[in-house]
Amino acid sequence: MKVPFFRPNISDGEINEVVDTLRSGWLTTGPKTKEFEERFARAVGAPHALALNSCTAALHLALEALGLREGQAVVVPTMTFAATAEVVRYMNAEPLLADVHPDTLQIDLEDAERRVKESRRKVVGIMPVHIGGMMADMDRIREFAERHSLWIVEDAAHSFPSAWRKDKEESWRWCGRGDSKVTCFSFYANKTITTGEGGMATTHDPELAERMRIMSLHGISKDAWKRFTASGSWYYEIVAPGFKYNLTDVAASIGLHQLERAEEFRKLREDVARRYRSGFEGLDYLELPPSSEDRIHSWHLFYIRLRLDKLKIDRARFIDLLKEMGIITSVHWMPLHLHPYYRETYGFSEGDFPEASRVWKRLISLPIFPGMKNEEVDYVIDSIRILCEKNEA
Ligand SMILES: *Cc1c(COP(=O)(O)O)cnc(C)c1O
Repeated sequence: MKVPFFRPNISDGEINEVVDTLRSGWLTTGPKTKEFEERFARAVGAPHALALNSCTAALHLALEALGLREGQAVVVPTMTFAATAEVVRYMNAEPLLADVHPDTLQIDLEDAERRVKESRRKVVGIMPVHIGGMMADMDRIREFAERHSLWIVEDAAHSFPSAWRKDKEESWRWCGRGDSKVTCFSFYANKTITTGEGGMATTHDPELAERMRIMSLHGISKDAWKRFTASGSWYYEIVAPGFKYNLTDVAASIGLHQLERAEEFRKLREDVARRYRSGFEGLDYLELPPSSEDRIHSWHLFYIRLRLDKLKIDRARFIDLLKEMGIITSVHWMPLHLHPYYRETYGFSEGDFPEASRVWKRLISLPIFPGMKNEEVDYVIDSIRILCEKNEA
């Protein structure tokens, strides 16, 4: 059997909508994008949503709108994707990397606290990453941010739809509804919903929304929508050297239908996660990802952590052997401080972020996607059980 890491789930709804857009003669940002924004804003409970061509663009626009300046610093977990830190560098500011908790892979606020106190630079913000789609405790992040006068921009690339609450007494707080200044989502091909490439920024702040919208399209001041409608005119003014980050109506057409199916997708991924969890029960060669009654988990990722002390092979060999059995897996991620750019620019070594350095060598992300068949999940479980037993230390 062959099990891919991910299979996109595109139905006739998406296909027909794209065809409709192609026939309409309006391909770029227009009515479909506007509708996608409005529906997305409603889905997460945010007053403003801005559709963009990537989550990276959303993160960049958020930092620009917040006025991040050269030489300032922003707290970023070292365990994240390239985008979270590179956008800080786009602004000529410095990512202040922090270590993570080895169970949730999320930022360790005690470690961040030490680094903020020792920083020679003015630290102005923090960018939590809800890894795999399990949200951080945003009250704790907010308390930390308030204590140090920081803004919060959430990298929510994995967390649509995700929610959290303090305890059972409380109602769910959906990711994007306003625990931070700006929340940034990704619709990349293998994310929880997709537009091929795409992203969304949500915010409660009308001024941030306005600045991000202007900067997303060349810094043109006129309401971008009007330019694209019959009531639009040829006249516009450039108020800043903006970027080219708008989403197309072709992509938004896919997004409209993916959005409608988002909760169905999430439930299907949750079923896969549950099946993995019971299938791996009692297998003490590995640790399973955390979950909680106080989270609605998007289950974008299902990462296991190998117990290398109980195995005579390392993670790379484990992945190769799974591949020989037809199973494609991935790793999220090699921490930023181990990549050449960050090592060379900041002189980092493994010991600077000991938890992330240790845990990443044990990480494997297993296939999880809506439409994954029970036989495929069972094949992954059986193959991993066999591999562990064969390679017992
Ligand atoms: C995928 C991803 C991004 C980037 O999303 P794009 O839409 O590809 O720009 C950012 N952060 C994290 C954590 C991601 O996984």
